[in-house]
Amino acid sequence: MYVGRFAPTPSGRLHLGSMLALVGSYLRARSCGGRFLLRVEDLDRARCADQNTSLILEEIALLGIRADAEPLIQSRHPERYEEALSALKSAGLTFYCDCTRASLKRAPCRCESRQEQLLSSPQALALRAHLPAVPSGFEDKLLGQVEIGDPYPYLTLRRSDKVISYNLACVFDDIKAQVSEVVRGQDLCYVTPRQIALIRALGGAVPAYVHLPVLLGPDGQKLSKQNHAVPALERGTPAQVLLTTLDLLGQETADLKEDMQPAAILERAASRFDLGRIPRAPLEVERRWL
Ligand SMILES: [Zn+2]
Repeated sequence: MYVGRFAPTPSGRLHLGSMLALVGSYLRARSCGGRFLLRVEDLDRARCADQNTSLILEEIALLGIRADAEPLIQSRHPERYEEALSALKSAGLTFYCDCTRASLKRAPCRCESRQEQLLSSPQALALRAHLPAVPSGFEDKLLGQVEIGDPYPYLTLRRSDKVISYNLACVFDDIKAQVSEVVRGQDLCYVTPRQIALIRALGGAVPAYVHLPVLLGPDGQKLSKQNHAVPALERGTPAQVLLTTLDLLGQETADLKEDMQPAAILERAASRFDLGRIPRAPLEVERRWL
């Protein structure tokens, strides 16, 4: 059974780049006759306002997209990740670490060899995994073999402020939901080999991957919330946003019109969704979407 998902971080509303992942993952699931799930990755409470979660779910509904189950809101079940932490601890794959982003830039982490000293100190520590057998790359259904290079074996599981990391929560929830294929942006390719190693360490089945092209503004800058990309639905109607997204995904749009219902556009697009037509290289978008 095909199970796909869209998993936004509600640090803002959906920009055009998120639309690519949303529409791409939805159409892929529908065209495979599979299930489609929504998950809100809002464990970082400082970055994610509940108001954004409601707005994003409203935007998804306005676009005519329906999931096959209630959305999983990660912040409502923070305890569910303890199971994964215990399993990794029991497997001897975890260590405490007091490195900061700045200190890691100066020198590599040596915390594994000073665990006793670290645990006797009063300061807050991050919990990291030392992953066995991180592959150097992975097979992507759109990109072919993707090589990331020298495998880096460390992955943060829980930050020093006790927030469960994006990688642990994402991997654990994909395993629990039996997600069979992950469709998301190419900006996440770099961490995919480590996520694969983490899935294996947790005894899960590694899903297939489809990494969609990133969007660039006319200045060559990546479209992202960090770069203050505007909410797509502020710049177009749901139908206009869908047509633009389908164009970017290389799909046929000649017979689709802006006055059609979003659900009707999606139904037609799903019936002929073609993974092979999706571009692989970064895509430049018009200024109106920035
Ligand atoms: Zn360290």
